[in-house]
Amino acid sequence: MTNKHTPRKRFGQNFLHDQNIIQRIVRAINPQPGQTIVEIGPGQGALTEPLLASGAQIIALEIDRDLAAGLRQRFQGAENFRLEEADALQCDIRLFANEGPLRVVGNLPYNISTPLLFHLLASKNCIQDMVFMLQKEVVDRLNAACNSKQYGRLSVMMQYHCAVQPLLSVPPGAFRPVPKVQSSVVGLQPVEPPLPAQAPPFFTELVKRAFAMRRKTLRNTLKGLVSPETMQQCGIDPGSRAEQLSVSEFVRLANGSRVCQNSANNSQSGSMQ
Ligand code: SAM
Repeated sequence: MTNKHTPRKRFGQNFLHDQNIIQRIVRAINPQPGQTIVEIGPGQGALTEPLLASGAQIIALEIDRDLAAGLRQRFQGAENFRLEEADALQCDIRLFANEGPLRVVGNLPYNISTPLLFHLLASKNCIQDMVFMLQKEVVDRLNAACNSKQYGRLSVMMQYHCAVQPLLSVPPGAFRPVPKVQSSVVGLQPVEPPLPAQAPPFFTELVKRAFAMRRKTLRNTLKGLVSPETMQQCGIDPGSRAEQLSVSEFVRLANGSRVCQNSANNSQSGSMQ
């Protein structure tokens, strides 16, 4: 099967062929019997085979119907293998969590890795951990500290929801076809944030708006959402830019804005009574 397939760029297909790297990734995942592991984009099965050998239950999500047919044939005898021919972006993985929390792994299609990470965050409560191969630049953004060039919306949202741990670097030569970019494997472990957002959708919107024009000051980017006075009450300089705020400062600003909005609403309704 493997030799006949022409890699499809639209599905981000760069297949792992370096056995040393494959073993290192599987060691980083450390699959165990009794675990349920969702593999996103199994492709030709480079990671799937050693994952199955561990005895873990593997649920593989593959969008490419030709690759899905090959996987079905190759692993038909494996009792711990289940294939879902599906778009991971549309898939509700919570449906697979009957037996307990899921592990989610994969050499992700790089063209959709950011929306996929955001999609998975919505299922955070049923995820034990995630181990993904990503473009190195994306891992650098996931792990970036504030005041750095790489720090952005992805850093804030992922660090709010997960502990981020870069695990290993992978050179382009480990894949076929050879990608133009360096790759890295990262571990993401969902955590309870030390300072939780009181209204998560508002926090999400605030972070999105703040980074939409990252060169502008918060006074401008958050106009209509948070007033400069509220920023000052929260200890945030309205003249600063999004990249200068830590994750907990974003949460503080979001929570403080809600408090100010609520008290403004209350005093308005009070004055109308
Ligand atoms: N795991 C294989 C490996 O390491 O050799 C293949 C990795 S390749 C980078 C990405 C895989 O994700 C491909 O098999 C591709 O068809 C699949 N894929 C792309 N978009 C997808 C999506 N939206 N849902 C599920 N699978 C997808």
